Amino acid sequence: MQSDDTAELAHNGIYQNVVSCGSVISPMRVTLGWARCADNVADILRRGAWYPIVEESADGHVVVEVRQQRVRLPRRDVTIRTEVPDHWSIVARTGVLRPTLGAGRGSDVVTTYAVCPLCHYRQDVAGKPDSVKCVRCGASSPVDWSETC
Ligand SMILES: [Zn+2]
Repeated sequence: MQSDDTAELAHNGIYQNVVSCGSVISPMRVTLGWARCADNVADILRRGAWYPIVEESADGHVVVEVRQQRVRLPRRDVTIRTEVPDHWSIVARTGVLRPTLGAGRGSDVVTTYAVCPLCHYRQDVAGKPDSVKCVRCGASSPVDWSETC
C-alpha cells in the first residue's frame, strides 16, 4: 500500500510541475475563450495579441489574463473567439510620411506587423506571406489576412 501512495505522490508532483511551469500560455489550456484588444485598451493589452479569458461576468465584462495578471475589460472593447488562436494577427499602423527633401510629398503610409499567436512577439512582415515563422518561439503559423486590428 505504501509504495502505491508514494507512486501516486510522485505522479502528482510531476503533473503539477507540468501544469504550473512557465508563463507561456499553453494552447491546450482550458479557457472560456480568447480576447483580442481594440485600440482603446492597447495600453494594457498588446494590440493584435489574443489573451485567454478567465472569467466572464453578467454585466458585460470579461477578465483576461495578461502576463499572469487579471485585467477586467468591457466586452465591447474586445474581439472574442472561442477557438485557440493559431494565426498571426495583422496589426496596421497608420502614419503620415513626412515630406522630406527629395521625397516630394507627404502621404499616408500604412505599415503592418504581425503578432505571434503563441508568444505575442511582434514581427514585421514583408509582402503577404501565407505563413510566417516566429523569430522568438520558432513556431510557423499561418497569417490571418482577413482582418487587421
Ligand atoms: Zn512566437
